[in-house]
Amino acid sequence: MSGGILQRLSTLTLSVKHLRRPLHFSDLIPVSIPSPRPTIAASQVPNLFREPYILSGYRPVQQDWRCYLLSLFQRHNECLNVWTHLLAVPVLLLRWWANVGSLGYTLGAASLPLSIFLLSSLTYMFFSVTAHLLQSHSEHAHYFLFFLDYVGVAVYQYGCSLGHYFYSSEAAWRDSVVGMLFLPGAAFFGWLSCVGCCFAKYRYRRPYPWQRKIVQLIPTSLAYLLDISPVAHRMFTVSWMQEPSLPFHALQIISFLLSALFFSCPIPECFFPGRCDFVGQGHQIFHVFLVLCTIFQLEALFQDYARQRNTVVEVFGERQLWWACVCFPALFMCCILTAVVAMRHTQRQLRKKQKKE
Ligand SMILES: [Zn+2]
Repeated sequence: MSGGILQRLSTLTLSVKHLRRPLHFSDLIPVSIPSPRPTIAASQVPNLFREPYILSGYRPVQQDWRCYLLSLFQRHNECLNVWTHLLAVPVLLLRWWANVGSLGYTLGAASLPLSIFLLSSLTYMFFSVTAHLLQSHSEHAHYFLFFLDYVGVAVYQYGCSLGHYFYSSEAAWRDSVVGMLFLPGAAFFGWLSCVGCCFAKYRYRRPYPWQRKIVQLIPTSLAYLLDISPVAHRMFTVSWMQEPSLPFHALQIISFLLSALFFSCPIPECFFPGRCDFVGQGHQIFHVFLVLCTIFQLEALFQDYARQRNTVVEVFGERQLWWACVCFPALFMCCILTAVVAMRHTQRQLRKKQKKE
């Protein structure tokens, strides 16, 4: 009898202790779903996953896929890279609806480039969120998801160039050589930037040499210089007082240049190794400026679309508008094929590495 009372008392004490413990997110997860393991130091993950100057907060590899999905609510060093783009999606959609309400939008050939721009922005955000959230699963997952991330960047570049060409360009620029070669050039350089980034990822191993950044940055910079050329021409030839979109275009360029700076250099973590493991990494700042660039682009393109809506079909012809927009899924498929080819080469390389080990 006394043994039974003691057992009940100990059960009661345990329950009280459990109630006193602060509630963790893992307590809310049903027992059948695995909860993410605690984060670990850089020295405990394979070399591929280590970021320069980021010393802790790594998720262990080879967990259940659901653990990486649930790591959305875990504190780790990729957390803000995911949330910056995840939160950008509702912000972008809200700005879209606000502009539809204030400036008007009708579905048709004239609005196709604007719709493609939104679709391309959502595509790069989706691939980026997926890559940063799930890449820690394995080396295969890391490579494949970042190859898809580069696909997102390429189609976003093309989406921007469609908006710039059809809504923001001046007739004098369109008559120039650059203007005449712009659309095929934008598709080609978009694809080339995907090739450059995939090649750099496949070719170079951590710690990455400076050549890797060059291989990534040359095609992406060439693509950007071409994409922004109609806007740059207009900024220098048209009065800013008459054009409400030009300040937004200036802001998108500034945001892009800052994002490129933080993408290229591990600032500020190189000055504070281990202090930016959760918040403050250059890559997070790069994401924030890229999102700002996209939002300013949306504002600028909507202003330009409102101004050109009634003349855009007349100026360019419905056929050219449709062709340019049909190239978007074609470019997407070419980039996906590039990612698949890069993945095949990488798999071969990973198999060789496994045999050596
Ligand atoms: Zn990223």
